[in-house]
Amino acid sequence: MSEPIVDSYYKCYHCAHFSTNLESEYLKHGVQNHLYKPLFPNETELKRYNLRPQNKPWEKCSITEEEAIDRLAGWAEKRIREEKKRKQQDQEDKIIATFDSAPEITSINKYV
Ligand SMILES: [Zn+2]
Repeated sequence: MSEPIVDSYYKCYHCAHFSTNLESEYLKHGVQNHLYKPLFPNETELKRYNLRPQNKPWEKCSITEEEAIDRLAGWAEKRIREEKKRKQQDQEDKIIATFDSAPEITSINKYV
C-alpha cells in the first residue's frame, strides 16, 4: 500500500517512516517504540540524542541536561502508567463482556 506523501505534523524523531497528524497516534507510537527517548525534544535533547531538528515549538525551550534527564524519566514513567491503565481497562471490558454474555443461571435457579 503506498500512501501519498503528506506533511504530517508529528514526525518521529527516531525513525524515518513514522508520521501522523494525531498526537494520540504519535504518543502511542512513542510508547511502543521509543519508551525512553524524548518525543518532544528541546534543544538540549536534540543534541544529546543526535536528532534532526524539525523546527517545532517544543524544540525552542532550552533546559539543562539534568532537567532533560529528569523530564524524560517522568515521561517514561507516565507513559508506562498510561499503558498499564489502558491494559487494565481492556481487561475490565472483557470481564464485563463475559458477564453480559453468560447465561442467566441465577434467574433459572429461582424457579427450580
Ligand atoms: Zn519512531
